[in-house]
Amino acid sequence: MTFPPPRSAPRAADDVDPALAALRRHFGYDQFRGFQRQVIDHVTGGGDALVLMPTGGGKSLCYQIPSLLRPGVGVVISPLIALMQDQVGALRQNGLRAAFVNSTQSGRESWEVVQQARAGELDLLYMAPERILTDSSLALLSTLPVALFAIDEAHCVSQWGHDFRPDYMGLSALAERFPGVPRLALTATADAATREEIVQRLRLEKAQRFVAGFDRPNIRYRIIARDNPLQQLQTFLASEHPGDSGIVYRLSRAKVEETADWLVQQGWKALPYHAGLDAEIRRRHQERFLFEEGVIIVATIAFGMGIDKPDVRFVAHLDLPKSLEAYYQETGRAGRDGLPAHALLTYGAGDVGQLKRFIHASGAAEKIKRVELGKLQSLVQYCESLKCRRQTLLTYFGEEPPDFCGNCDACLTPGETWDGLVAAQKALSCVFRTGQRFGAGHLIDVLLGKPTEKVAQFGHDQISTFGIGGELTPAQWRSVFRQLTARGLLDVDVEGHQGLRLNEKSRPVLRGEQPIVFRRDAEGGRPPRRRPSEEPRGVSTPENAPREGTAVFASPARAAAAALSASSSGTRLWEALRAMRLELAKELGTPPFMIFHDATLRQIAEHRPATLEQLGEIHGIGVNKLKNYGQRVLRILADHRP
Ligand code: ADP
Ligand code: ZN
Repeated sequence: MTFPPPRSAPRAADDVDPALAALRRHFGYDQFRGFQRQVIDHVTGGGDALVLMPTGGGKSLCYQIPSLLRPGVGVVISPLIALMQDQVGALRQNGLRAAFVNSTQSGRESWEVVQQARAGELDLLYMAPERILTDSSLALLSTLPVALFAIDEAHCVSQWGHDFRPDYMGLSALAERFPGVPRLALTATADAATREEIVQRLRLEKAQRFVAGFDRPNIRYRIIARDNPLQQLQTFLASEHPGDSGIVYRLSRAKVEETADWLVQQGWKALPYHAGLDAEIRRRHQERFLFEEGVIIVATIAFGMGIDKPDVRFVAHLDLPKSLEAYYQETGRAGRDGLPAHALLTYGAGDVGQLKRFIHASGAAEKIKRVELGKLQSLVQYCESLKCRRQTLLTYFGEEPPDFCGNCDACLTPGETWDGLVAAQKALSCVFRTGQRFGAGHLIDVLLGKPTEKVAQFGHDQISTFGIGGELTPAQWRSVFRQLTARGLLDVDVEGHQGLRLNEKSRPVLRGEQPIVFRRDAEGGRPPRRRPSEEPRGVSTPENAPREGTAVFASPARAAAAALSASSSGTRLWEALRAMRLELAKELGTPPFMIFHDATLRQIAEHRPATLEQLGEIHGIGVNKLKNYGQRVLRILADHRP
C-alpha cells in the first residue's frame, strides 16, 4: 500500500494561504469542503454571511478558522449547553484556546473565563443567547476586540419552527451594538421561509448567502412494511449493525421504554431517552451514548438536536415521523463523519389513519390542519413511491437530484411491483359489501374467509366477498389496503373508528377502468438484493464494496476489520488501536471520537506510518494530536508489525 503523498510540498505556501495553513495545522485536514473556503474568506474579510449546510457538512470550521485569522476572540452563540461543551472539548483536543460561559458554571468559573478573554487568551468563546444579551456581557464584549459573532442553529429564531427560542429574537441587538464586527448565521434547516425569517430577524440583509446541497450520499435510505417492528429491528441490527451506535426513534414514551427493555433482553446496549425521564438519567444516558462505543439510544424526538456524535451508524424510525422535514433532520444525525450510514423506516397500514386522527383532534386552526395534512401526504407518498428515495427527498427540498443514487432501497431493488387490479377490486368491493365502516383487520378476515366472531356477528360469511382472497397472505392484503389508502383510493373515517370508505376515486378502479400497480414490500429487516453492476455513489471503496448480487451494508468498523483481516495481525492492530483510543478517552474524560474518528484510525491501520512525520500526514491529525498521542500510536504500531 502506498503512503499518501506528503503534504510538506505546498507548505511553503502557508504564509500566503493562512486559512489552509490553519486547517492543516489545527485540524489535520488537507482541503476545504464545499464552500467552506468561500465563507471563510468572506468572513475573514469582514463580511456577514448566512450559511446553510446539511448536518455534518462542516459548518463549524466556517467560523472557527476566521476566529483564528482575525484579531480578537470569536464569539459563538449556541442554544444548547451540551453542544457547547462538545465543541469546546473538541477544539481543546486540537490545541485551540476555547471556553464557554453558561448557567452550569459557578460565578467563579465564569469570572475566570472573562479574565481569559480580557487577557486575549481565547480564540473562541461560546455563550448561550440569554447570557450574551445581559448588560454585563454586552459591556464586557464592548471592551474586547471581537473577531466575529457566529449564531449557530440560527433557525431557532423562527417562531414557526419546532426549535423556537425566544432569546434568539434579541440577537438583532448585536447588529446595532457592534456594527463593525462580522456576523454569521448557520443552520441545517433548509426551507426558504425560515431563511427569510433569519435574515430579517437577525438583521442580516447585507449578508452573503451560502447554500449547500442537502444531499447526504453516504446515508442509505430504506423503508420496510412494518409487521413486527421489534423483530424487524433485531434482524436489521444483527445482520448489519452489530456493535454500532445508533438511534431508534419511537413516537411515545411507553414505546421507547418497551423497545429499550426488549433490546436489552436481546443483549444490546440500549438506553431509553424521553422527556418523562429524570434530567439526571437523561444526562447519564446521553453521556454514555457519547462516551462509550456501540450504545443504542431509543428515544422520542426529544433526543437529537445538538448531538454532535459523528459516528452514529444508523437511525431507525419504527413509527412514522411527523413530516419529511422532521425525517430528514432526524436521519441526518447518522453518518456525520461521511462514512456509510443507514436510515431505516418501518411503515404500516395503520399509520396514515392514526396520524390523520391526531391532526383532526389537535384543536388547531383549519389552516394549520390543512398544512399538516399536506405534509403527511408528502410523507406517505415518499414511503409508497417506487422512485429513488433521494430523488424524492431532494426534489421536495427544492434541489436538483441525481439521476441514479444507487444507495437507497428503490435503486438497489428496482422493479419490485405487481399488477394489483384484481386485488384492488376485491378489496374495494369488500369495503362496499360490509357497509363501509370496518378497518383493514376485519376486511382481511372476510377476504380470507376466516370464521371469526365478528364475521358471524355481522353475517359477513354470507356476503359475496367472503373467502375470495385466498391467493394473498394477510401481510399482502395489509399492503393492498395500505397502498389504496395512501393513494387516496380509500378514505379513513377519522371521526369514528377508522373504518374505510369508498370515494369518487374508487369507482374507476372498481369498474376495472384504471390499471393499478402495487409496490412489493421488502421483507423484514434484511438487506435488499442489489442489481449487479450498479455501485452506490461515493461510499464504496474496494475494501467495502458489496459482493455482487447482494447489498450487504458495510459498516466502517466491519469494513476496516475485513480490509485488515487478510492477516490476523491486521485485525489485532485494529483492535489494539481501538483499545488505545478508549483508554485515552477514559483518562481524559472525553468521548473516543474526539481523540480520533474511525476514519483516522482506519487510515493509521492501513498505512502503518513509521515516524511522527508520516503520522502527521494522516487525515484528522493536527499538530496538537500528534504531539499528545503520536508516540503512543507509534508504540502500538511497533508492537504490531505484520
Ligand atoms: P455541522 O456543524 O455542519 O453538522 P461539523 O462542523 O460538526 O458539521 O463537521 C462535521 C464533521 O466533518 C466533523 O467531524 C469535522 O471534523 C469534519 N470536517 C469538517 N470540515 C472538514 C474538511 N474540510 N475536511 C475533512 N473533514 C472535515
Ligand atoms: Zn436511490
